[in-house]
Amino acid sequence: MHVRQLLILLGVSVGLAYGSLVPNHQSVLVHKSDEQGLSYSGSPQLRLQYREPPPNLQYKCGPKYGHCPSGTCCSSAGFCGTSSAHCRSPECMIDYGRCDAHESPDGPPTEDIPRPHLGEVPYAPYEIRSCSVPGTIAFTFDDGPSRFTGDLLELLDRYDASATFFVTGINNGKGRIDDPNLPWAELVEQMISGGHQIASHTWSHEDLSKITAGQRDDQLLKNEAAIRNIIGSFPTYMRPPYSSCLPESGCGHHLADLGYHIVLYDIDTEDYKNDSPDLIQRSKDIFDRALESADSKNTSWLIIGHDIHEQTVHNLTEHMLKVSKDLGYRPVTVGECLHDPRENWYRADDRWAVNKTKKHDHSPKHLLQPKNFTVPQVSLDGTCGANYTCFGSRFGLCCGSNKVCGNTTSHCGYGCNKEAGYCSVGVPANGDALDALDSDSAEAKRVRSEADSSLRVVGSAALTSFALALFVAMWM
Ligand SMILES: [Zn+2]
Repeated sequence: MHVRQLLILLGVSVGLAYGSLVPNHQSVLVHKSDEQGLSYSGSPQLRLQYREPPPNLQYKCGPKYGHCPSGTCCSSAGFCGTSSAHCRSPECMIDYGRCDAHESPDGPPTEDIPRPHLGEVPYAPYEIRSCSVPGTIAFTFDDGPSRFTGDLLELLDRYDASATFFVTGINNGKGRIDDPNLPWAELVEQMISGGHQIASHTWSHEDLSKITAGQRDDQLLKNEAAIRNIIGSFPTYMRPPYSSCLPESGCGHHLADLGYHIVLYDIDTEDYKNDSPDLIQRSKDIFDRALESADSKNTSWLIIGHDIHEQTVHNLTEHMLKVSKDLGYRPVTVGECLHDPRENWYRADDRWAVNKTKKHDHSPKHLLQPKNFTVPQVSLDGTCGANYTCFGSRFGLCCGSNKVCGNTTSHCGYGCNKEAGYCSVGVPANGDALDALDSDSAEAKRVRSEADSSLRVVGSAALTSFALALFVAMWM
């Protein structure tokens, strides 16, 4: 290769990489005859030029820049794109582009179902912050289901404990909870059959104080339909994401109209801040200190945690169960700790039974009985493959390339066997917007997710550029 060709190779690599990374320009190789050409650079033989994009194609988006081009999503850092990092809720900006939050569950809407305020427990706008039955402790888990939820259900079973799951319909890139091709619906069914309570944590985890009344309707009604698609009814209990339902936004009265109880908590484990083996002791200390402060005979507790965090599921919760049982507390659902009869926890959709029977073999009664698994059977020893699936097994949701079930990246990522379990494309290891208002961490997370995607862009741009330049140099 001549020196001249080497120089061209270098120049073209840099030029192409630059063109790929400067968002408002599309780099194109053109012949001189291309009449749309503007300026060009490089040797006379090879012309590289930048074509101005159509006026509506803006790479940046958000309050300052406006809406993304049709079909693309506006990330939390204000960039348009179509990757999961751009489109996943709650980070994706619903006012400035498409988001996965704009998807809807199947089946008829629930808005016409009557919503009487039954029972003695106060409804919105009142915010319930504690239990009322002495000696009870209500563990609540937000933001799931996630790939850890199966393990949590098994743990609760072992301790004969009931809990409440505030489920979110489509957060963290997990897809719709009622999607029959995803494992979430089965986990929700397991919650019901395990005696736990299901409550709403909205469709895509938006801050209910910061959106319009129409968007708030969407957040509640879509989650209702999704949960209805799984269990035939939808909850009367909910927890606002970020615990945010400010009076001036109209949120509280809106939730009253929709017939909800608002449930907050009196112990925040801060598990979302402490999701590492080194830090989780801090959450245990918070819990222990609170319980040491009172006597179980005349006290009750309402605990918040998140089943999207590994340390919460594989470490903190067992500690909390042990301590609370040793001190004489009874781990129950939120409804039970408020002495609210079970029939008040949900609103039934009579249309469901007919639709559900057509589609699936499940009915509410069926859910309370042991499941009859069809081929492939659920793995009993942790191995998986043609005849055994990891779905519903206690070894993890994903069947790795080594034909063993598990929840790690090596099981759920590359080589994962889709026929025999779940493969976690787009499902994060953890990572959620926070329930407590912790803007610093949320900001750090936003910055990190954008940085990650930029790195990928740089990598692929450089690689593409080098390959193209090599081809051109050889051709010369
Ligand atoms: Zn949450």
